[in-house]
Amino acid sequence: MGRPDYPQDMREFRRKFSSDQACLEYLSQSRWPDGFVCPKCSGESAVLIASRYVYQCRVCRVQTSPTAGTVMHRSHLPIQEWFWAAYLMATHTPGISALQLQRQLGIGGYQNAWHMLHRLRKGMVNDTRTKLTGLVEVDETFVGGPVKGKKGRGVAAAEDKSLVVGAVEVLAYKDAVGRRRERAGRLRLTPISDASAESLGAFLSQSIEAGSRIRTDGWKGYSDTALEDYIHHVRVIGSPDRAHKRFPHIHRVFGNLKLWINGTHHGVEPKHLPGYLDEFVFRFNRRQTPMAAFQTLLGISSRKPPLKLGQLMSAESK
Ligand SMILES: [Zn+2]
Repeated sequence: MGRPDYPQDMREFRRKFSSDQACLEYLSQSRWPDGFVCPKCSGESAVLIASRYVYQCRVCRVQTSPTAGTVMHRSHLPIQEWFWAAYLMATHTPGISALQLQRQLGIGGYQNAWHMLHRLRKGMVNDTRTKLTGLVEVDETFVGGPVKGKKGRGVAAAEDKSLVVGAVEVLAYKDAVGRRRERAGRLRLTPISDASAESLGAFLSQSIEAGSRIRTDGWKGYSDTALEDYIHHVRVIGSPDRAHKRFPHIHRVFGNLKLWINGTHHGVEPKHLPGYLDEFVFRFNRRQTPMAAFQTLLGISSRKPPLKLGQLMSAESK
């Protein structure tokens, strides 16, 4: 059998995980793709106690639940709700609010939905370990409420607005008739206090591999000092409304980010913004691998590569 398949759409998801039993089997298969291994003694033979769905090791007799060590462990909320919440969070573009989740689940109440999203967000692994490479588009934008007072990139943001800097890899490919096309690769987003050369330079060195090519507009913050480790491609934009043509990838990201924050969450307080940016980046960088995102959120992504299963069922029948 190997690793279980990932559902292609919501209908399939609901059918596949229509019972607690089905969810627990999926957990078991994901955690022990090549057969049960006791976390205590590494024994590979266990009896499934079906009434409570725990595996009891035949060697040390310790009982292990497939939910142990996952986001669902010791939760009083139904496992099916956790699965549904993680699925929506991993695949539903552009994300989901606690209120929407509560409505989707149809039960549970707002507090539970909020709690689940909060726990699932903690499962989002930090993406900043590997830096972006190749050709990278960089720009900044304001995120939050309506602009008040001063405008412009040199000044601090108005109270309820936060300045965010973004970088996205630009991957080139040839289309069917041999024309050069571009698509977005991986993304980084960070709140910054201002768009000075110092702030931008710090973001660049944290986020982008030295020697990469960086595409920016003519803003003075993208100074020679800020970009000394990089090859700088400046694209001057004539008027502000042309920015989305000159920097299509990062501007599409910014557009979706604002739609998500303003439309889905009805704005975000600046102190909560970093968490929301992390969530947006998590989903964006895993948009091609929703199964990995789903499993990461639930806390069941196995460190092992997928292997042949078969052991798990035989462990039950031994
Ligand atoms: Zn054991």
